[in-house]
Amino acid sequence: MKSDQTRGLRTFVAQCVLGGIGLALITAVCFALKLDFATVSFCYLMLIALLSMMGSFAASVVLPVIAVVCLNYFFVEPLFQIRFHEVQEPVGLAAFLTTSLIVTTLTFRVRRNAQALVAAQAAMIDSIPGMVWSAHADGSRAVANRRWSEFTGLQHIEIGAESSVYHPDDRDNVVKRWRHSVVSGESFEVEARMRSANGDFRAFLIRAEPVRDQSGRIVRWYGLSTDVEDRRRAMEDLRAREREWREVFEHNPAMYFMLDPSGTVLSLNAFGAAQLGYTAAELIGQSVLKVFLKSDWHTINGRVAKCLQQLGQSHNWEACKVRKDGTRLWVRETAKAVQRPGNQIIILVACEDITERKRAEDALRQSQMQLAEAQELSHTGSFSWEMKTGALVWSDELFRIFELDRAEKPSVELVLQRTHPDDRAGLRHVLTQVERERTAWEYEHRLMIDGRIKHVRVVAHASTTTGDESWFVGAVMDRTAAWNAEQELQQAQNELARVSRVTTLGELTAAIAHEINQPLTGLVSSGSACLRWLASDPPDLDSARRAVERMTKDGTRAGEVIGRIRSLVKKAPPRRDWLNINDVVTEVLALIGTELQRNGVLILTELSNDVPCAFGDRVQLQQVVLNLIMNANDAMADGPRQLLIRSENKEADEVRLSVCDTGVGLDGVNVDALFEAFYTTKRDGMGMGLAVSRSLIEAHGGRLWAAPNTPRGAVFQFSLPVGGERA
Ligand code: ADP
Repeated sequence: MKSDQTRGLRTFVAQCVLGGIGLALITAVCFALKLDFATVSFCYLMLIALLSMMGSFAASVVLPVIAVVCLNYFFVEPLFQIRFHEVQEPVGLAAFLTTSLIVTTLTFRVRRNAQALVAAQAAMIDSIPGMVWSAHADGSRAVANRRWSEFTGLQHIEIGAESSVYHPDDRDNVVKRWRHSVVSGESFEVEARMRSANGDFRAFLIRAEPVRDQSGRIVRWYGLSTDVEDRRRAMEDLRAREREWREVFEHNPAMYFMLDPSGTVLSLNAFGAAQLGYTAAELIGQSVLKVFLKSDWHTINGRVAKCLQQLGQSHNWEACKVRKDGTRLWVRETAKAVQRPGNQIIILVACEDITERKRAEDALRQSQMQLAEAQELSHTGSFSWEMKTGALVWSDELFRIFELDRAEKPSVELVLQRTHPDDRAGLRHVLTQVERERTAWEYEHRLMIDGRIKHVRVVAHASTTTGDESWFVGAVMDRTAAWNAEQELQQAQNELARVSRVTTLGELTAAIAHEINQPLTGLVSSGSACLRWLASDPPDLDSARRAVERMTKDGTRAGEVIGRIRSLVKKAPPRRDWLNINDVVTEVLALIGTELQRNGVLILTELSNDVPCAFGDRVQLQQVVLNLIMNANDAMADGPRQLLIRSENKEADEVRLSVCDTGVGLDGVNVDALFEAFYTTKRDGMGMGLAVSRSLIEAHGGRLWAAPNTPRGAVFQFSLPVGGERA
């Protein structure tokens, strides 16, 4: 405020001095030239108007008053006096004074308005939210608004090589472009970094347009510098991101295609092109059909059309592509048509190589087919059983074994329904136990389907692949054919055993005849004696009764011998029972013991009283014992003849019977060969005895073997598994 006052005072003084000098000069010149009152008045008016335009209002008011005095003093008669001679003289001076004051006031007002206008304009320019500036027509510095000054810290705009406003790297370009615009009159536009007041650089878009007069001559340039630093950074970020995405796009191990609506490749990534054996340039501009089989073109066109119909919607499919070298490539494609700015429609396609997966699927399919064939061939079905949910998954073969339609939903109940009624309880028990204990199981049972019986064997255990012990996998083998074959084999073996028995009995005819002959002879002699006792007078009834009793005994004995022979020859199916092996030995000895003794064989028995019962077929075991005893008898044809039959219970779970002889022994003999069918060293032997005996013992779950006896002969012995029962 104070400086304003000082400035005003200074202006006032300066104007007064200037006015005074001007007034003195005009007065001197006009006085010397003897100019009249009116001319001098105009000269004074000009000076007053001139000073009013530059000076202070106060000075402009003081000056006319002094001018009136000078007019009166120097140019109104009487000269050099302040006096009026005529009436019109004060009127003239008053008119001059009034005119001077009007001119002064008007000039002052005009000047003030002009200053106000300039100030308003400056305020307006300063309030523009941007950095604006102007330059002269020749491009030289002009003015800039407050924002420009605030940013740069400069009061004046400088455009030139010497300007420190611009970044050194941008300066030349700015100057060059500005000069070009100034010379050519073309719009000026350049992007350059400008230094801020604190020394930082920020990017600006600097634009300027020329303002021309009516003749088209450039009178001034007006410019706007827009801060584009943030935009530039955003653009740089965008570009960096675009570069990153481009990298991803180019090197992502997936194929990307960009197609136009006609299916022409607009763009694709290098990886995609390389996968197909092309370079990107070889495919861009080509129809995408180029990488498909001709037979698929119709389908591909249809898919493109579908994408175009449903803009923005993704579609998936699998397709087979053809590489440049003709090999195939399976891909899973995801495609989507999108609208770009400018209404351009493009189709984006991402493809994932699934060739390996396809190959694996094919291999899987193949192995499944092979498995199915193998299952069919071996009559073995497979299943998985998730116990938690009860869900069962069956193989085709299992449906065939159970004779169920593939559409049926397998369940444990269905399995039980198809199980033979007699086996259901057992199977249910096993399944319940498995569900509870989650242990592996193996079980054989029968199915009954439409009255037909099938034999199946189930083997299952907890899946090792899932690691879930409630998840069972298993196999069901249809053993019906094998079971039937086993039955037939069993039957054939039984038949063979019977034939073998009959043959053995044939060899024993003499012994058997003797065995029967003895009681018969006894019968006859007892009968004769009885008759004699009855015929005596008086009849000796006691002796007769005793004779009859002997007869009964002998009859029974003969009957027993015949019964045994009959049972050995009978064509009866094998029947297993709990039996004592000692009884079997006794029964055989009862049949052939006497004959052996007649042959001079000393029969010794060591039959343990403590042998447990074995579960077996009495006739078959008799056959084995008979066979071993007969062989021992044969082996002892020459030399000492001592036969020892021993039963024992060496191991808790088996009973063992040994037939030891003092015969030729087994020196130099391949013991295993003895048990082969048709192996014999006898002139009239068949070589079936030991083979049949071994198969009979093994059918009982036992073993039959041979070893040398000490000091001579051989020991043939067999073991049989035993139950808990004791003899
Ligand atoms: P086969 O009695 O008809 O020869 P086997 O199968 O009963 O048929 O016997 C086969 C062979 O085993 C006999 O021929 C004999 O050589 C031999 N063998 C059997 N038992 C004895 C034994 N106790 N001592 C020595 N060799 C024996």
